Amino acid sequence: MKPLSNRSKVVSDKTLSAKESAYLPAIMHGLGVTLKHFFRRPATTKYPEQQREFSVVYRGRHVLKRDENGAERCTACGLCAVACPAEAITMTSAERKKGEEKLYREEKYATTYEINMLRCIFCGLCEEACPKQAIFLTPETAPASYEREDFFWGKDRLVEGLAPEQRIDVTKRQDR
Ligand code: SF4
Ligand code: SF4
Repeated sequence: MKPLSNRSKVVSDKTLSAKESAYLPAIMHGLGVTLKHFFRRPATTKYPEQQREFSVVYRGRHVLKRDENGAERCTACGLCAVACPAEAITMTSAERKKGEEKLYREEKYATTYEINMLRCIFCGLCEEACPKQAIFLTPETAPASYEREDFFWGKDRLVEGLAPEQRIDVTKRQDR
């Protein structure tokens, strides 16, 4: 079968010519390759002093969004959990009571919502599955930790804050 890259070479065990057995041309060729790369712009960055710019649709840590009035959008339908290939999402739900309309947008809401960040592969399928525009991935990276417990993110870390400065802008992801 013809290789896709078209770069394969047929290898033979023929005896080396006098030029080949001197190895010098091959060594010079190798040094030439090294020299060529020496003057090129390096592909690596000096992290952490220097940081690469992330794509606007980079998939980092999640946020559970509130609506324009500050009510939680999530209705605990479970579609994100079903779509998650890593089975990282769990939740429990309850009926919204009278007087709680300002807290929860829908009649059913998530009493607990947890993402296991050690399982999550940041694929974004939860975001795509959500019919309420409630969960989004953000450009922020999830912080590292030595403690296992720090990777079980509940509503306290996932739901965005009420104050305008605590809101997380996801318009770039919505515009995709
Ligand atoms: S980003 Fe993917 S793996 Fe992570 S919680 Fe969402 S669906 Fe699951
Ligand atoms: S985040 Fe969206 S998909 Fe997941 S339970 Fe809430 S409303 Fe349903």
